[in-house]
Amino acid sequence: MSDTHCPYCALQCAMRLRASADGVVVEARDFPTNRGGLCQKGWTSADLLRHPDRLTTPLVRHGETLRSATWAEALDRVVNGIGAIQERHGRDAVAVFGGGGLTNEKAYALGRFARVALRTRTIDYNGRFCMSSAAAAGNRAFGLDRGLPFPVEDIAAADAVLLVGANPAETMPPFVRHLGGDGLIVVDPRRTATARLGALHLQPTPGTDLALANGLLHIAITEGHVDRGYVDARTNGFDEVRAAVAQWWPARVERLTGVPVADLYAAVERLAGARRAMVLTARGAEQHAKGTDTVTAFVNLALALGLPGRPGSGYGCLTGQGNGQGGREHGQKADQLPGYRRIDDPAARAHVAKVWGVAPEDIPGPGPSAYELLSSDAVRALLVFGSNPAISAPRAAGVRRWLGDLDLLVVADFVLSETAALADVVLPTAQWAEEDGTMTNLEGRVIRRRRLSEPPEGVRTDLAVLAELSGRLGAPTSDDPRRVFDELRRASAGGVADYAGITYERIDAEGGVFWPCPDESHPGTPRLFLDRFATPDGRARFVPVEHRPAAEEPDADFPLYLTTGRVLTQYQSGAQTRRITALPGDPYVELHPDLAARIGIDDGASVTVATRRGSTTAPARVSATIRADTVFMPFHYGGANLLTNPALDPISRMPEFKVCAAKVTPA
Ligand code: SF4
Repeated sequence: MSDTHCPYCALQCAMRLRASADGVVVEARDFPTNRGGLCQKGWTSADLLRHPDRLTTPLVRHGETLRSATWAEALDRVVNGIGAIQERHGRDAVAVFGGGGLTNEKAYALGRFARVALRTRTIDYNGRFCMSSAAAAGNRAFGLDRGLPFPVEDIAAADAVLLVGANPAETMPPFVRHLGGDGLIVVDPRRTATARLGALHLQPTPGTDLALANGLLHIAITEGHVDRGYVDARTNGFDEVRAAVAQWWPARVERLTGVPVADLYAAVERLAGARRAMVLTARGAEQHAKGTDTVTAFVNLALALGLPGRPGSGYGCLTGQGNGQGGREHGQKADQLPGYRRIDDPAARAHVAKVWGVAPEDIPGPGPSAYELLSSDAVRALLVFGSNPAISAPRAAGVRRWLGDLDLLVVADFVLSETAALADVVLPTAQWAEEDGTMTNLEGRVIRRRRLSEPPEGVRTDLAVLAELSGRLGAPTSDDPRRVFDELRRASAGGVADYAGITYERIDAEGGVFWPCPDESHPGTPRLFLDRFATPDGRARFVPVEHRPAAEEPDADFPLYLTTGRVLTQYQSGAQTRRITALPGDPYVELHPDLAARIGIDDGASVTVATRRGSTTAPARVSATIRADTVFMPFHYGGANLLTNPALDPISRMPEFKVCAAKVTPA
């Protein structure tokens, strides 16, 4: 038996696993985030442990085919390939790509492996595609990025919640237990299952959320809802933002966003009239070429209403991937070192270099962001852990070609994902129920992943693979999660995400510990910003931001908006959930009945969606839940990201997954 947490999303629902003759039985455990609930994905998560697709031997490429190999042969091929490529093309020609589902220990070990064993600056991870815009906006406004700077229970106690670009009723269903319908305002171009729960649904044109937020702030100012005492005492820069939003009068916002003026006023009245209120954003606000500024616009609104740092109120980002929070704190991100330190900060480099036993100048500098890495001519080898970019990257056909053209592609995974199928070497790795470690959930609560059983024969943990490769490359490390975590604690000490006082024993005894936690007598920090923000002067920063059109707007050739997202039964690239027969799901194109009539198709008919990057065909799902100028596709199945636009946010380097120009025709 093991008490652990779900392998999928950032809610990290608590579960108990029991081994039985028929397999592994999953039971829900009560925990503050899931209150005893699990979704379909969690209930079926053990089905992959004995799945026939499970890889139990390394694979190496011979021409067009992958064949079984010993670990020695596979690792020789990896190490020899890395050596030859670095000698010929330089150290940075070997790249590493991680994932937001990796444990804290693995994320830390991967960053160390890249910087110390490979001495490459070329490392980033799929979290860049997930919540990097909210991270950039949070750092800009508050001096610190923790998805929810308060426990999730605070949301349940709020009288009003503005939920922007999130569909937790499908992506993390138990979270809905924390949302009271009466005070819930949902911003989404689709009338999602979550929007149907709310008292008010604002359905803006894709790509106009920033203007919507500026318009809401304009109304808050003109209607006298700004908390002047809070603004004066705890923030800087309000006057510049007030000047910037002055031009966003309600009628103009309605014209641009399509949201009726009355609904704009109603949303502000509900938020401003609540004793406790929350503004929460997610991928819908973030996955834009102006995602950082869009999130900033909602942070500005929250600051003007006096919410962040007020008990029971606040601003937060709903992180998506299982370790989306911890995954961005420990050094697998292109611009960071452990402890959420900047890699270009001399003091941070000196601290981490001491823990790693290297000279500060030997730690490489910042590298390219995820999409730039996955399309770089300078990269000749790539090692992938915990990610499937062949499905999840934008302009995926180009990324697949790029992966196929590499001199060496190594993928560590437990099934032959679409990325692994392109690899030169595939290393079979353990699943969540076969390893120990820690995860940091969407609240910044560090929790334990506990092993139920050993991995199947022939399978190794990611930490064991990294330790073996590091050793062969002359930089030995441990494969023991507890020892890796202890090193992580030392590396993070004094950083923003300080784990120094968090131990496995404390997590076991307390059920989880919130960072920052600088020493073992510190209680952890469930609520941030109560007295001061993490900026040098302790005050939050208003930042004026301006609406600009999406990188690609509809035109005569591509007259519709395409937006993408997730569905209830699937998780991320679907490499895991698509293999579980109890989780039904197929690609589809959601479109409005007016659009269906215009192009002459019925529900279920096959349609082709095309953009300037490619086309894909799927059955139509005709529904009035979507705007008539927009089509939606879930991205789990490989087709949607053939179409998406890799235009990048200039600050977060987030691709514009949420909006591009498309056309739909009968197939
Ligand atoms: Fe909970 Fe998310 Fe797992 Fe569903 S997928 S059981 S919401 S952690």
